[in-house]
Order: sequence, then C-alpha cells, then structure tokens
Amino acid sequence: MSLIVQKFGGSSVKDAERIKNVARIIAETYLKGNDVIVVLSAQGDTTDELIEKAQEVNRSPSKREMDMLLATGEQISVALCAMALEAMGLPCVSLAAWQVGIQSTGVHSDARIKKIDSERIRSELDQHRIVLVTGFQGVDRIGDVTTLGRGGSDTSAVALAAAFRADLCQIFTDVDGVYTTDPRVVPEARKLEEITYDEMLELASQGAQVLHNRSVELAKKFRVNLEVVSSLERKPGTKVKEVTKVEKTNIAGVAKDTSIARVALIGLQHNPGVAFQVFDLLSKHNINVDVILQSIGREDTKDITFTIHKKDQDETEQILNDHKDVLKFDHIEADDKIGKVSIVGAGLMSNCGVAAKMFEALYESGINIQMINTSEIRVSVLLDEDDVNKAVKAIHAKFFDEI
Ligand code: ASP
Ligand code: MG
Repeated sequence: MSLIVQKFGGSSVKDAERIKNVARIIAETYLKGNDVIVVLSAQGDTTDELIEKAQEVNRSPSKREMDMLLATGEQISVALCAMALEAMGLPCVSLAAWQVGIQSTGVHSDARIKKIDSERIRSELDQHRIVLVTGFQGVDRIGDVTTLGRGGSDTSAVALAAAFRADLCQIFTDVDGVYTTDPRVVPEARKLEEITYDEMLELASQGAQVLHNRSVELAKKFRVNLEVVSSLERKPGTKVKEVTKVEKTNIAGVAKDTSIARVALIGLQHNPGVAFQVFDLLSKHNINVDVILQSIGREDTKDITFTIHKKDQDETEQILNDHKDVLKFDHIEADDKIGKVSIVGAGLMSNCGVAAKMFEALYESGINIQMINTSEIRVSVLLDEDDVNKAVKAIHAKFFDEI
C-alpha cells in the first residue's frame, strides 16, 4: 500500500462532469488499496472571477480580505468533489488549510508554507478516508487565511507529499505532461518522459506554465517523486526526478517569456559602487531583476541595461528618476516590446557547442539577439517581442528535428 498525493488543476474540476471524472480517478487509486490525499484548485476561472468581483467594490482591497475571498474558490472544489465521492459510496472528508494546519507566513497573497500539522490528516487516513485538501491556501500565526500566490496549489500538493513522505505526487492537468516547448507554437513539440528537477525549475521560471516554480523547488529539496499527468486521457505523463536518462548532447526544452521589459540607464559614471547603488535600490523595493548587462559608453561613462517584469516597469522608472541626483545617469531608455527565449538542459554544463547551435538557429532565421544570459543549465536570449515565436520554432527545429 502506498500513500499518493493527487492534485487537480482548475480546468480538471471546472464543472460537474469534470468533477465526476476526477472522483473516478481518485476512486480508482483508492480502491487499489492506496491512501490518497487530494489537493484541488478552484474551478475553471473562479479565481479570476473573484478578483473581478473584488474590483467591483474596491479598486485596491487589502490583501488580507483578498485572501479571505480567493480562498473560497478552493473550498468549493473540495466540498463538491467530496460529494461526488460520497455519491459513489466512498468514505472521504474535505478540509480547508486551517483545519489541516497548513501553517504559513502571514504575507497575504504570497505566503510560504512553514509547517504542516500531521494529526488531522493522519487520523482521517487511519480511518480509511480519502482526504481532500484545499490547494493554494494556508493559515498564519494568528489564524488568518493566507494564499500562496497564483498557481500555488501545485506547491500545496508537493508540500503535503513532502510532509507525509508520500510515495508519489501526481499533478493532474489538462495537458498530458511537460513538452519540449509550447505545443501551441510548435505542433511538433514532444512530450518528455522525464525531466530533472533543475531543468523543470529553469523551464518553470522561464515561462513554461506547467508547474508553479516553488513546487519544483520543494520537490527537489525533499526528493518528492513527482509526475505531471493528464486528467482527461489515460496515458503516461512526465516524471520529474533527480537524474534522467536523456542523452547529454540534447536539451530538455525551449521556453519563452514575453512578460518582460528592458530598462537601460544611459550615461552612468564609470566608478565603483554604481551597480550596487542601482540594484540595491531596486531590491529594497522588491523589484526582481533578471538579465543584467553593463557596457562602456563614452568619456568615462557606462550604461547598465537590465530586464524586469512588465508589471514593475512604471515603478522602476519612477524609483530611478526619483534618485537621479544620487545615481547621476543621463537618461533612461525603456522597452516593453521584448521577449526572452531560453534553452534548458542538464547537458549544457559540459557542452559549449549547444549555445552555438542555438545562435546558429537564430542567425539562419535572421533574428537579432539583443542580450544573452546563461546559467549552468540554461542559455537565454533577449529579442524583439515579434521574433519570439519564430525563434522558438527555429531553435526547436534545430535541436529536435536533426536527431
Ligand atoms: N486557484 C489559484 C489560481 O488560480 C491557485 C491554483 O490554481 O493553483 O491561481
Ligand atoms: Mg497551475
């Protein structure tokens, strides 16, 4: 007998039909003799609809009340799914995060799970009940409901799997696994049988939408046996693990991100401490900076260019302009019409030809690279937003059609 955590995303529980379908998958797992903990997201677009409702009464509601509101979505899902299981004659119980004791920090809308109490769930499992837990939410030190950030139900599932040392954590979604790139852009994209935690983490943070990146971090840390599978079709999904058997010379996938903006500070003084001042200022305002490039300008000046999330662009320009006297730059040039395309692969570390191959694909398609950035297992290029899909296609073809 195994303990299995099964998480179903919003599209998998969007209506009564889908909930019954999910109940059948859970029932099958349970009837094989497994202990099952189920984690559910809110149905379909519920979370977005709740955000709209809030906007109708208050343009800037407090984060505490937003969490109070958004947490209801997941509660609807677990209660309905429990009823579907009851109708099948199966013993089950639905629990909200505060009933389980999913303890989190008090940072509303972006809370982190600190600890999960095991008693309640353990006693329900001991009584052979299927336990359904609300994803996306926690409870803070003073008993207030928190949420874990958009897409956070994946993290709830992996945290439960880690806390209960589950044998397997299955993330059910409406796609059947992790692909080499977005199949909507490249129909030839292939499903990966397996991928490493590190590759998955890079892909998730480079814009691949399959898994919440904090869930992958947690899975890696606690060695959770993770699997991405379809709730709609019965076929093998993608396993996320420490090492895979994928050959070293190829990459795992191509990711794209068009939610970024580029900001350039032109004419900074060429003195020590300038970069420190700029990025210290931004980090104090919680602005995440991604790719950074410094170049020498004219007459002892330098330019620093970096990328941020589009949503932070106005604030970033504002903060920099407010400190123009101290930072002593000439002017700011900002551009939100850019995109980032990345290749990710554990083999990159030991094979420098891989980056060249990516650049060759771009060259052959006449695409100009604006900036380049790398990590141990990733190479990213910044390009014109309009070139992003073309670049993804060309790079994908280069790596996956030739072998
Ligand atoms: N319902 C939440 C969201 O839409 C959490 C999740 O689905 O993972 O972001
Ligand atoms: Mg999701």
